[in-house]
Amino acid sequence: MPQTPPRFVILDRDGVVNLDSDQFIKTPDEWVPIPGSLEAIAALNQAGFRVVIASNQSGIGRGLFEMSALNAMHEKMYKALANLGGRVEAVFFCPHTAADGCDCRKPKSGMFEQIGERFGIELRAVPVVGDSLRDLEAGVAVGCVPHLVLTGKGQKTQDKGGLPAGTRIHDDLAAFARWLVTGDGAAPAHKSPAPSHEPPNEAPRAQPR
Ligand SMILES: [Mg+2]
Ligand SMILES: [Zn+2]
Repeated sequence: MPQTPPRFVILDRDGVVNLDSDQFIKTPDEWVPIPGSLEAIAALNQAGFRVVIASNQSGIGRGLFEMSALNAMHEKMYKALANLGGRVEAVFFCPHTAADGCDCRKPKSGMFEQIGERFGIELRAVPVVGDSLRDLEAGVAVGCVPHLVLTGKGQKTQDKGGLPAGTRIHDDLAAFARWLVTGDGAAPAHKSPAPSHEPPNEAPRAQPR
């Protein structure tokens, strides 16, 4: 088999990896993984996927918690993941509020563009997993393939409708990982062979530049 380039998955954090709260997740103690989510990340890693998180954290801009608290939450996540043999490459976060008018707060795609630059990858066809419409919209804006999980705000998001075309729905991150690693998602994205003159960045999977 030819060597395939590393593939990426971009995840939202709150409501996808950890339990969400309308009161914000402000401390490491409040950061509690959704059952099976860390195992799912480890399973994605095992299958050759690199996992990156892109998360709106307006609690910082609102003064609800400090950067040190956010770092401590992520230390807790990295440690818990390491115990399972899993890892997240990086957490990209937007600390702004909607009033700041930044380019990184989802549904804007700024964090996704940063991810593309940091890892030198084409974002086209990279799966994006979220529980809110704005997670999916931010990803779709740069060509990612949208996946909604029903954890966190996911059920509400599904009920509201208006999801981007082609959104796949999974019970939780564990179900998404099973789908991607062993299910239909493991099949090539496009059945028809691509013309050989097609440039590499038109390939169905993320490739290094
Ligand atoms: Mg969320
Ligand atoms: Zn921002």
